[in-house]
Amino acid sequence: MQALDLVLHPDEADEAGLRRAVARALGVSEDRLTAVLPQRRVIDARRGQVRVRYAVHAFVDETPPAPRNTMDLPDLKGDPSVVIVGAGPAGLFCAWQLARLGVRSVLLERGADVRGRRPALARLNREGVLDPESNYCFGEGGAGTFSDGKLYTRATKRGPVLDVLAALVDCGADARILYDARPHIGTNKLPKVVIGLRERLIAAGVDVRFGARVDSLLTAGERVTGVRLADGSTLPAQAVVLATGHSARDVYRMCHRQGVALSAKPFALGVRVEHPQPIIDRIQYGKLAGHPNLGAAPYSLKRTVEAVGTFSFCMCPGGFIVAAATEADGVVVNGMSPSTRNGRFANSGMVVGVGPELFGEGPLAGLAWQAEVERAAFQAGGGAFKAPAQRLTDFLAGRSSADLPDCSYRPGLTPVDLRAVLPKPVARHLADSLRFFGERRMRGYTTREAVLVGVESRSSSPVRIERDPERLESPTLAGLYPSGEGAGFAGGIVSAALDGMRIAEAIVHAR
Ligand SMILES: Cc1cc2nc3c(=O)[nH]c(=O)nc-3n(C[C@H](O)[C@H](O)[C@H](O)COP(=O)(O)OP(=O)(O)OC[C@H]3O[C@@H](n4cnc5c(N)ncnc54)[C@H](O)[C@@H]3O)c2cc1C
Repeated sequence: MQALDLVLHPDEADEAGLRRAVARALGVSEDRLTAVLPQRRVIDARRGQVRVRYAVHAFVDETPPAPRNTMDLPDLKGDPSVVIVGAGPAGLFCAWQLARLGVRSVLLERGADVRGRRPALARLNREGVLDPESNYCFGEGGAGTFSDGKLYTRATKRGPVLDVLAALVDCGADARILYDARPHIGTNKLPKVVIGLRERLIAAGVDVRFGARVDSLLTAGERVTGVRLADGSTLPAQAVVLATGHSARDVYRMCHRQGVALSAKPFALGVRVEHPQPIIDRIQYGKLAGHPNLGAAPYSLKRTVEAVGTFSFCMCPGGFIVAAATEADGVVVNGMSPSTRNGRFANSGMVVGVGPELFGEGPLAGLAWQAEVERAAFQAGGGAFKAPAQRLTDFLAGRSSADLPDCSYRPGLTPVDLRAVLPKPVARHLADSLRFFGERRMRGYTTREAVLVGVESRSSSPVRIERDPERLESPTLAGLYPSGEGAGFAGGIVSAALDGMRIAEAIVHAR
């Protein structure tokens, strides 16, 4: 095996071009290459010149290594001793890691399975009617199922990250996610991957149940002993994993009521910005905009003023803005994109960091404030999950939009002045930074064709469910393991999955 670093013009940055470039670099004919395995692929658009950088392992006249299969799970026996609440990335990967360690679990999910979620989403988009149990946030696969499926993470331990990515590949994701610097799966492919993961867990003996909402914890003294479901049934457990995501407000209230230690957490709030994708491509790639080997261009913006950060969040090239609400009277937006990222628009959250100085003290203060902003957005939108919106240039000029450009958000838009919807300091920081980004970071970003859609309020959890830093269980209720984004210990699909795995290890360690 030979390790190579190559820098290619986009014209050569596809499978055939890469093989040619490797053969050239090694001075061998292409037919002697038995495998070219990319280890990393990065589009580098700095300094006005777009190039694609590869790190590859090349094999000449030798047998390449067989891909590893992470999904060989043992046959689990005995009664399940762990109840996992929530089948998002944290819950699914907790069940997976427990299975790998030989422990059977029950995985409870309040929403429908992936297929059952689809009619609920169609009804929300077409008729503006929300199913509070199955929507963009709730249901099998969690908030990440109908998303861009971006798999970037700030986690630095490459080994466990690769473990998660390899499991996703085993369940049907494209192997490119193993080496792409900005890996993503796409909303059209994610459901198949989630179903693949579920089928493998069930085959190993994990008990997976849908339409199973947990409404309270069973306790004995200061220890959790199981859960009670919405239908009144109970399940005993030696350990309960709460992997319920950041949108299950009833779960935070349940924890508060039952004396589980919680604290308020800073989060971020703002809007989604949508541009025609060709505008972003031109800004990022210049003359190479639209090159098939580059795809739709992403961007990332951030700025801190007066110790308050304003930043782009969950940018979806070639994507759609979606109605990510979970309550009947609140509008929430988020973004997703298909694997090809070939939609007409580029959207991104543009959010401002907020903390107790804005929403006050108390563990649930941020949650209440977040819900209030979502209700204001619902009112301003005029009902049926229409979202309040404004042209970017009108927002900066401080006037309502007379009309709005075409937009991917399906329930529809209502033109408003977003400054009347957003909390004043958020609107001020947003306007200031958007102006800065358009003038100093991405010339052409400030355009009449861009629209701001409110509100992007669920960027991360406003509450932390406390846990002991070593044992990872609640300091007030032994055997309760808060996990993932809802507990405030993850942000994104991969970090939630990694946290679920850590929890599995902590449970096994505690036995
Ligand atoms: C539209 C959209 C796009 C996104 N795009 C990306 C992206 O591209 N990349 C990325 O990294 N992240 C993305 N995210 C964020 C990502 O989905 C989350 O960070 C991640 O899913 C968090 O995982 P989790 O397992 O902690 O929680 P969740 O995924 O929120 O899962 C929690 C699960 O618990 C269930 N649940 C809640 N309460 C109960 C209860 N009482 N009983 C039983 N079950 C319950 C919920 O139904 C849900 O399925 C996106 C989110 C959305 C909404």
